[in-house]
Amino acid sequence: MAVTGSPELLIVMGQSATADQTEHVLSRLAEHGVEARVQRGREATVIGAIGDREQLALLPLEGYPGVEQVLPILKPYKLVGREIAPDPTVIDVEGRRLGDGWFGLIAGPCTVEYREQTLETARAVAAAGATWLRGGAFKPRTSPYTFQGIGFDALEILREAKEETGLPIVTELMDPRHVEAVLETADVIQIGARNMQNFVLLAEVGRAEKPVLIKRGPSASVEELLMAAEYVAKEGNHQIVLCERGITTFERSTRYTLDLGSVAVLKKETHLPVIVDPSHAAGRRDLVLPLARAAVAVGADGIIVESHPRPEEALCDGPQQIPSDEFGEFAAEVHSFVALMGKEVG
Ligand code: PEP
Ligand code: MN
Repeated sequence: MAVTGSPELLIVMGQSATADQTEHVLSRLAEHGVEARVQRGREATVIGAIGDREQLALLPLEGYPGVEQVLPILKPYKLVGREIAPDPTVIDVEGRRLGDGWFGLIAGPCTVEYREQTLETARAVAAAGATWLRGGAFKPRTSPYTFQGIGFDALEILREAKEETGLPIVTELMDPRHVEAVLETADVIQIGARNMQNFVLLAEVGRAEKPVLIKRGPSASVEELLMAAEYVAKEGNHQIVLCERGITTFERSTRYTLDLGSVAVLKKETHLPVIVDPSHAAGRRDLVLPLARAAVAVGADGIIVESHPRPEEALCDGPQQIPSDEFGEFAAEVHSFVALMGKEVG
């Protein structure tokens, strides 16, 4: 359900509250035109009451049977914050899980260039235990003169790769006019770093019924990333994965500066899963494994990594792509770190 007001209150039901008591609160809220989001957590049932402050003030919420506490939601991100949903969100795509102990190993080419390149990579990453397949059809490039992706033809190739490997597809949506076509192929819709604050696009994917992977803008704050997710959640889509992919700093030895602190902060602030993209952060393949290890150690719920059968021939991001025939070794190393953290590759 799309949210129209701004969520203002959290109604925490006591541990011994009955289902009828929760229903009673919900029907009182509905009578006053207040929308509610119910989260049945491990510890307690929490109702987020979303509506006008004045309407909410008319309700004697604290007096309703079963209600333990009524609290204001203080953070600007209401739906994606921990307050409304203390339990972690798990994204399940055809049985491949990510979040709450399930680690996502998302891998594939930067860009779908041609059929064999994508299929070869898909086979290699699938054999190495990847959980989702990534691949760009429409590419956001800094220069309008560089390769922009092969677009709709790429979507067809990705469908074939899925058919052969069974891996769900993650691909970027850049233009709201492509939403239908991309949704036909994508199991997870990627919102690229440069579009993180494209609010029209965010609202569009908020109305889609597929998970959305939002990459942090190179100059965006953690709070701005959370607000981008809030745009999606506000439209009713709560299946969101956040991705730290490095930010712009004065440092030039890596392509971006991987802000691992943001992962630790995000894990505290939001119930949404958080992943790391060590490939774009590093910009060079020799650093992808150390950064991937660090991502696992800081508590990321997954990584998204680029691989190509012949990186030296890649039309985009060659220097950071892991040769497909070395991907198995890379993945084995990641798997052992994931196990060390007590998690499992989804
Ligand atoms: C990508 O993952 O394909 C990509 C373009 O990354 P970013 O949006 O983070 O630059
Ligand atoms: Mn890339």
